[in-house]
Amino acid sequence: MTPIATRPPFMRYRSYRPGRRVTTLAALAAAGGAMLLSSAAAVGTSARGGEEQGPSAPMRYYKGNLHTHTLNSDGDSTPEEVVRWYREHGYDFLVLTDHNFLTGVDGLNALQGAPGKFLVVRGEEVTGAVDKKPIHVNGLEVSRLVSPPQATTVVGMIQGMVDGIRAADGVPSINHPNFGWAITAEELASVQRTRLFEVYNGHPQVNNVGGGGMPGLEEVWDRLLTGGKLIYGIAVDDAHYFKRPWDAAVPTPGHGWVYVQAPALEPRALVQALEAGRFYSSTGVELQAVEASATGLRVVVKATTFSKYRVQFIGQGGRVLREVAAADARYAYTGDERYVRAKVLESNGAVAWTQPVGVGSGAPQ
Ligand SMILES: [Zn+2]
Ligand SMILES: [Zn+2]
Repeated sequence: MTPIATRPPFMRYRSYRPGRRVTTLAALAAAGGAMLLSSAAAVGTSARGGEEQGPSAPMRYYKGNLHTHTLNSDGDSTPEEVVRWYREHGYDFLVLTDHNFLTGVDGLNALQGAPGKFLVVRGEEVTGAVDKKPIHVNGLEVSRLVSPPQATTVVGMIQGMVDGIRAADGVPSINHPNFGWAITAEELASVQRTRLFEVYNGHPQVNNVGGGGMPGLEEVWDRLLTGGKLIYGIAVDDAHYFKRPWDAAVPTPGHGWVYVQAPALEPRALVQALEAGRFYSSTGVELQAVEASATGLRVVVKATTFSKYRVQFIGQGGRVLREVAAADARYAYTGDERYVRAKVLESNGAVAWTQPVGVGSGAPQ
């Protein structure tokens, strides 16, 4: 790999190379709804969600951005220009998510896609508001346009969007809960039939880390998991501006992404892997392996020579169960954690988040 691979996220337009992708069967921590200690060992080879994979089929990690705008909503560039940016910056796939608009991808894939190398996935940001609070839910791989519902409550609006996306065969992801301080942890906990939310969004006005008494999105995540709701955290760009790379006040590309472990670079395989938690999220840290065994969780960072790393294993209440000051870190379950997730902190500020692994009978569902 090249040292450039983990430049900190504030250095936009880096020439990111994904390096050699992980081909180990080491599991991504796909907890599954009712993962017990005994089933954890199977993670990554056979996870929840009806995958077609046999136990020994190798899976690659694919790097992708799940949230992007074009001129078809409030972006500043054509779909062709947007797709080209991601293709030329080392991504394997991209989801186009214009506000209440389904940007076609067939022509884009015909021109810029390549089997197994680069794919544009259809998507939409279903966009509405309740009491001036912006409620946005992405529909990944929706088969048709989904309109925002009529709703008078935040939960009703989110649930209506989620159900509309499901009815269109798509996978919902709840966007930027702290944008406009619109969605609380309690409201998120009430939403059904969704597994994904944005724990990191690269837009400069979405309040990822909280403040003023409002929790950051990692704290929200741990509240949901501690309360028994299994939900996975994605990192996205929410890029709108591709022609103003110098402008830190606007949402530009290259800040947050996911590495999805899937059997093929194919839309349905990618979204199924996301819903099964077979991915990790990043703002600049690449991992060599995430291994969830029957006895513990191991994270191995693809380290660069100029960075140092800390790996935190986090459990109920957001408590750091163990911190390891190295790029290869292990945590042994005690058995009563309910869930464990890992966070990698790189010495220049980049982060990677792995997905929660259920431990014991009280695992989030
Ligand atoms: Zn939005
Ligand atoms: Zn957006």
